[in-house]
Amino acid sequence: MPSFDIFFLSLRDPSKAGRARFTQTLAHISDMPNTKIEEILRASRTLLFERLSRERANDIVTALTQAGARLEIRPNQAPPDTEQEVATRKCPRCGFIERADALECSQCGLVFAKWEREQVRAMQREQRLEEAMAKAVQVRQKWTERATEYVSNHPLRGEIPAALASKISPQETVFMFVDAEEGLLVLTSRRCLCQRNNVTLSLPWELMSGIDFGGGLLKKRGDVSRMQMTLFGPVPVGGGESSQKLVWQVNDLDAVERDTIMSWAYARKFPCGACGKTDLQFRLDGSKVHARCMHCATDHEIDLEEALAIPILAN
Ligand SMILES: [Zn+2]
Ligand SMILES: [Zn+2]
Repeated sequence: MPSFDIFFLSLRDPSKAGRARFTQTLAHISDMPNTKIEEILRASRTLLFERLSRERANDIVTALTQAGARLEIRPNQAPPDTEQEVATRKCPRCGFIERADALECSQCGLVFAKWEREQVRAMQREQRLEEAMAKAVQVRQKWTERATEYVSNHPLRGEIPAALASKISPQETVFMFVDAEEGLLVLTSRRCLCQRNNVTLSLPWELMSGIDFGGGLLKKRGDVSRMQMTLFGPVPVGGGESSQKLVWQVNDLDAVERDTIMSWAYARKFPCGACGKTDLQFRLDGSKVHARCMHCATDHEIDLEEALAIPILAN
């Protein structure tokens, strides 16, 4: 495997600003002192790096070319010299090449340690989400079958509003629409989807502690009646507000539809991801719904879109 030498030829922009840009970049990716870089700029053709691996040479050429340098790249028959190779890192956001020990990107300001922590957290969450999904698979299958059966006996009337259609996953089955004065509710095998005050709410069946029809203070007129959904814990409802009780004025629901909605809401609960008991206590943590198991104290993040309780493991 050959290696590569990089020679500096000249600057496209030899002004003071152009020199400063090149000096800053070269100082970032090497440990050359500024005096050495000034020498390089005065000379006509200088060897900057030798015996670089193909990948490293690529990164460095990209960085220096962006910084306005004209370069010459020559293959070297000797293998890459990993000892002498400059340790660099590429900014994961903007691609800028930095020295390996840089704390932040000097081009876009990304703080590397923070970014790495976030990556690790996102990966951990992704993994826990997959585990929770694997556990929930059988239950989900059962409810998908139930939704499919319902819709085969009670065909859907109408269409899913465009604003909600894109939110529905291919793995969930829509089985009923509820026409409400506040906007259409789309009931799926996984959750109740709706838009209120321009915010899309995703309400997993497991989060519902009850549904009531009728009663209350709303005056009935014609076929409009009141549907009240009570949740085990508060959910964000937009505008910085949260609520544990949602009320709709619904049109034309028959007895079968009402019974179906109530049976779905009462039948399902999130199991604890650690001990499997269904005794979670819900709360709002910032804008996220969390739930703690009353038996084993495991905390969970509730993914409202996926309708899953994801255990949060102490790090
Ligand atoms: Zn950057
Ligand atoms: Zn538990």
